[in-house]
Amino acid sequence: MKFYILTLFPEMMENVLNTSILGRAKEGGYISFEAVNIRDYTKDKHKKVDDYPYGGGAGMVMQAQPIYDAYMHVCQLAGHKVKCLYLTPQGKLFDQPAAKSLALEEDLCLLCGHYEGVDERVLEEIVDGYYSIGDYVLTGGELPALVMIDAISRMVPGVLTNSQSGSDESLEGNLLEYPQYSRPETWNDRTVPAILLSGDHARVDKWRFDQRVERTKAFRPDLYEKYLSQSQNNG
Ligand code: SAM
Repeated sequence: MKFYILTLFPEMMENVLNTSILGRAKEGGYISFEAVNIRDYTKDKHKKVDDYPYGGGAGMVMQAQPIYDAYMHVCQLAGHKVKCLYLTPQGKLFDQPAAKSLALEEDLCLLCGHYEGVDERVLEEIVDGYYSIGDYVLTGGELPALVMIDAISRMVPGVLTNSQSGSDESLEGNLLEYPQYSRPETWNDRTVPAILLSGDHARVDKWRFDQRVERTKAFRPDLYEKYLSQSQNNG
């Protein structure tokens, strides 16, 4: 899967996208990234990409032309119209089902806004979907883009080495993950639950499942309600 990122700050992307699991997935050819600097496409002689909002008000607005031309460049590189998502606090909440469904795309273009946002006309022209990563306002779309790329990439086959890693995780089946422990057996007078040392896989699985249910009930009652109604619907 290929991610194109339209941004004024491509350098913010590089470090994160080349590190750890994402970096390895890139090396392995499962995913790739191209950060496109919107400023490279401005026709303004001073390389300006923003201007005052019509009607007045605080801040600056990113202008339509450089974004449009940068996006056209992306479509030219890809050889087709690439699905374009604008990251905005006004968008639909980006969640795990969205990550899974977006991971089915061959490529995606993520448009990162900055300042007060983006001229509405270019959004109407190129954007296929609007996503928010949560109900708070950030200074730019770069962190949301990184969050989305990370979550989507994990759902691309081959990115997670252990094929199980995705399936028991938090939010799968509307349950959170069970608590995890590693060596040593005792740390700060706290011991690992005895059942995890028993070698009895069936009992470990049952314990883990019960923990997922209890945890979800305690930490995320909203998710637990979804789990209950899903279980009822499945008979
Ligand atoms: N004035 C805009 C509004 O009220 O909707 C907010 C602009 S925000 C300061 C600048 C940019 O950060 C946005 O264009 C968007 O790309 C990004 N952004 C901020 N918060 C976000 C969020 N929760 N999810 C996704 N993108 C966000």
